[in-house]
Amino acid sequence: MTQEIFARCGSCGTLNKAPLMRAGMAGKCGQCGAAINFPAPQAPVSVTDSSFDSYVGAAAEPVLLEFWSPTCGHCIRMEPVLEQVARELTGRVRVAKLDTSVNSRVPSIYGISGTPSFVLLRRGKEQARAVGAMPKEELIKRFSQYI
Ligand SMILES: [Zn+2]
Repeated sequence: MTQEIFARCGSCGTLNKAPLMRAGMAGKCGQCGAAINFPAPQAPVSVTDSSFDSYVGAAAEPVLLEFWSPTCGHCIRMEPVLEQVARELTGRVRVAKLDTSVNSRVPSIYGISGTPSFVLLRRGKEQARAVGAMPKEELIKRFSQYI
């Protein structure tokens, strides 16, 4: 699955394309070099052991990271919930997800023992955690003092 975002250059009008990892970040127009801003992500961004540091560590805003697994029924039920949370909190919180069946480094850093686990991070530091499936309102409430 390729996730891409677009930003139109205000200077020359070129439509710049970038991987979703660049969402919410500043960049340069590939055509004229003018500064552009990629729009904040409105959907959960998939991160991996290798992209975690650049995406989560570079974020100015808090990151809500879901540790999930494709074989976990609760995770599959939480998928649309997480998408709604990402839309509602666009610009305030980045929502990301990490597949624990193919990534082990980041789950071990945070001591993840079950899925789904939701961890709110600021510059990589854990602020709060919630484990298990829950309604959207409950999920937002668990982290409301940090977002
Ligand atoms: Zn340009």
